[in-house]
Amino acid sequence: MKNVVLAKSAGFCFGVKRAVDTVYENASKENVYTFGPIIHNEEVVKDLEKKGVKVINSLEELDRIKTGTIIIRSHGVSKNVYDAIKRHGMEIVDATCPFVLKIHKIVREESEKGKQIIIIGNENHPEVKGIMGWSVTPAIVIDTVKKAQDLELEQESQVCIVSQTTFNYKKFQELVEIISKKGYNTNISNTICNATEERQTEARDIAKQVDAMVVVGGSSSSNTRKLYEICKNECDNTFYIQTLSDLDLSKLGMADCIGITAGASTPNNIIEEVYTNVRA
Ligand code: SF4
Repeated sequence: MKNVVLAKSAGFCFGVKRAVDTVYENASKENVYTFGPIIHNEEVVKDLEKKGVKVINSLEELDRIKTGTIIIRSHGVSKNVYDAIKRHGMEIVDATCPFVLKIHKIVREESEKGKQIIIIGNENHPEVKGIMGWSVTPAIVIDTVKKAQDLELEQESQVCIVSQTTFNYKKFQELVEIISKKGYNTNISNTICNATEERQTEARDIAKQVDAMVVVGGSSSSNTRKLYEICKNECDNTFYIQTLSDLDLSKLGMADCIGITAGASTPNNIIEEVYTNVRA
C-alpha cells in the first residue's frame, strides 16, 4: 500500500458543503428549486436533477412557478430577490453561508446609518450582486487599482468597505490603501473568508513533501487550476484530473509518497474514489 496524504481542506468549504447537504436533505419534498445552480459542478447538479431538484435562474422564471420550496445557495441573494420569493408565497430554505450573511448585515446597517458602501470584489459575481442588494443606497464595487484611484466622493463622506469573501487578500489591502489615502472617514471590514487560502497553503505544504501530487477538480474550475499551479511549482510530478478515469495510475508507479488535494467544487465521493485507488 502506498503512503498517501489527503489534504484536510480538499473539496467543499464549510459553506458549500452546508448548502449542498441542505439541498439533499430537502430533495424528497415536492417541487424543490435552487435559485441558481447550487454549485459549479455538473455531476452534482445532474444528480440533484434526477432527484427532482430543478434550477431557476431569475425572478421571471419564478413567476411561472406556483408552489414549492426554493433553496438559496451559499452565495446568497439580494434583498430584492429574497423579498420577491417571499411575496410569491414559496417556502424559503436559506443556505446562504453565514460568512456572507454577516456581510449582508454590515452593509444593511452601515448604509442605514448613511455610510457609502464600497465592496472590494467582482461586480459580476453572484455573491457581490447579492451583497449590493442589501445596501439601502447604491453601493460602489471596486476590483482594480484604476477604479480605486478614480473614486471620487464628497470629502466629508463616511465610507464602509467590505470585501467579497473569495477576494485575494493582497489585492484587497492594496485597494484599501489607495482608498484610505483619500481622507474620507473610512471603516474597513475585512470579510475575506480564509477557506481558499487554507486550501492553497495546505496544498503547497503537501506538494513540497511528496513524490507525486494529484489535484482533482473540474477543467473549468479556476480555483482548481490555481491549486494545480501551486502544486506543480513545488512538485514536478503533479497531475490535474477531473475524475479517477483521467488518472494514469502507472505514472504514479515509482512514487512512494503521493499527495491529493481537490478544488472547492469537487464532491467528496470523487475525492474518495481517487484516494482509495491511488492507495491500493
Ligand atoms: Fe465557503 Fe467561505 Fe464562501 Fe462560506 S464564505 S461559501 S466558507 S468560501
